[in-house]
Amino acid sequence: MADETEIKEIYENGMKILEDLTSNAHEIQDQVLEEILTRNAGTEYLSRFFLNGQVDKQNFKTNVPIVTYDDIKPYIDRIAGGEPSSILLADPIIQFIQSTGTSGGQPKLIPITAKSFKKRIMEPLLAEFVMKKCFTGLDEGKSFFLYFSKPGMETPSGLMVSLYTTFYFKTGFFQNGLAKFCTSPIETILCVDNKQSMYCQLLTSLLGRDEVVWIGSIFASVLARSFKFLEDYWKELCSNIRTGCLSDWIIDPGCRNAVSSILTGPNPEMADLIEQICGDKSWEGIIKKLWPKAKCISAISTGSMSQYVSLLEFYGVGVPLFSPHYSSSESGFGINLNPLSTPFDVSYTFLPNISYFEFLPVNKDGGGNAREFELRSASATGSSEVMNETRTVDEPVDLASVKLGQYYEVVVTTLTGLYRYRVGDVLKVTGFYNKSPQFQFVERKNVVLSIDLDKTTEADLSKAITKAELVLKPLGLMLATFSSYACTSSTPGRYVLFWELKMKDSNDIPTLDAKKMEECCRIVEESFDFTYKSLRKADVIDALELRVVKRGTFDELMDFYVSKGASISQYKPPSCVKSEEAIKILNSGMVGKFFSPKTLF
Ligand code: AMP
Repeated sequence: MADETEIKEIYENGMKILEDLTSNAHEIQDQVLEEILTRNAGTEYLSRFFLNGQVDKQNFKTNVPIVTYDDIKPYIDRIAGGEPSSILLADPIIQFIQSTGTSGGQPKLIPITAKSFKKRIMEPLLAEFVMKKCFTGLDEGKSFFLYFSKPGMETPSGLMVSLYTTFYFKTGFFQNGLAKFCTSPIETILCVDNKQSMYCQLLTSLLGRDEVVWIGSIFASVLARSFKFLEDYWKELCSNIRTGCLSDWIIDPGCRNAVSSILTGPNPEMADLIEQICGDKSWEGIIKKLWPKAKCISAISTGSMSQYVSLLEFYGVGVPLFSPHYSSSESGFGINLNPLSTPFDVSYTFLPNISYFEFLPVNKDGGGNAREFELRSASATGSSEVMNETRTVDEPVDLASVKLGQYYEVVVTTLTGLYRYRVGDVLKVTGFYNKSPQFQFVERKNVVLSIDLDKTTEADLSKAITKAELVLKPLGLMLATFSSYACTSSTPGRYVLFWELKMKDSNDIPTLDAKKMEECCRIVEESFDFTYKSLRKADVIDALELRVVKRGTFDELMDFYVSKGASISQYKPPSCVKSEEAIKILNSGMVGKFFSPKTLF
């Protein structure tokens, strides 16, 4: 599947490709839809919506319902069980991609085909092109990318299921492209033991520290986790560098062989230097100290990842943080054309050739309130099977018709069997590049804290916490990460926040000033919306509680989710937790709890 010519083409003509795509965005969208419909109109899924034989955009919009994963799941299950994939899509499936989202506790499986992969691979390559244009010299060194794999599984019919990243790391596109410039040997990236993999990747990045010009991971959460790992393991890493011997607990043969060919002998000078850097009380700016030629840090740091921005900016003083693209297991969407924009102002420009995009208007508060009704539509196969499908009353608009400042939920139609599929993300239009709209990621729909009539969204929560966080700065404290839950075990219920704090100047446990922490609670509540405040005033919701947890507690939470099947490289920290076990883990790390004033509004 490797295609070095295509990679070269993007590296060399990226600007022209971008200009062509964005200038002709509307026409390209129509062509993409036409191609998808022409190829797939005969599938069992689609054919029943084109009974008059007229396969065109008009009929597509009128007849094909907007769906969620649960609507296509019966087809996916049938394919996984051995029926031909042509019931849903015309092109042959290479395998299934496992999304981090779940449906009824089961992972969502999305088909991938050779053709769809080639289309979406353009997105990270173009993002890379944009970065290289902005930060000169990225070609002249190595990249320290923390990438992780997760074991796949097989469906009863023998089709592989894996995460998109794991699938991608195994392709020639990666192995003949980016991987050649990584400090992490491919064996360490493909090692499915995350701890051995992380240790070896950190070690090889330190050994190659003078060459590293670029640092990154897919999501900011992974970088944050890796720095915590470095805090715990730097002495051992330095000892390996000093002696030239790799720790015995690295038993993965791929990792051992690959690292041994880089760790070729004792290097006490390097070990002394790294020990001196890591032994500093404060790790502010440590990235530039450990990797002196680092020019940028790339990691998705919008949406739920924005909680890691301050921490990464702290480690990376002087090295800009760049959020390169927005994509999901279902489809790629767009790339960030302004690498120098601050993490909170990042917009993604849609690439019109990846999928056909539609946009469901959402209330301005970003609450995703498009009203829905259930449409019972008989299966066009002629069987008596009746499906539940979801239609929205608000009509979705095309990419050509989105309006500046408006909020939308994105809906995709792909070559891989998703037809008018709600991705579940809410976006806001912030501008246009040529004819392509640019969007800010607002939130993942349905991630809410809810008590009674109140619905506090992920975006509301994150905005409120960003304000409260300002109280921590003069105290030399940083919010490393957070989560929350709606505690309804007593009446009235209350929202509980979990905060993991880090001292700026050391890794010691911070002393907590009760007054200041209560002030944080108050600021969070004051920043919530009118509904929350009214319910709080009426005693339907009780005072907000803040539980501070010790450093490392959120790593335990991540380990818990990884043990349940989440992948470390696509891990999204939950802005709010629901499972009893997750709450128990967070509570077990609690070092202090604080409340808002009983009467506030
Ligand atoms: P996955 O199912 O693991 O592929 O995760 C895809 C989801 O991750 C998307 O639907 C978004 O909710 C989130 N995501 C991906 N890229 C970004 C981004 N650049 N900013 C914010 N959230 C993102």
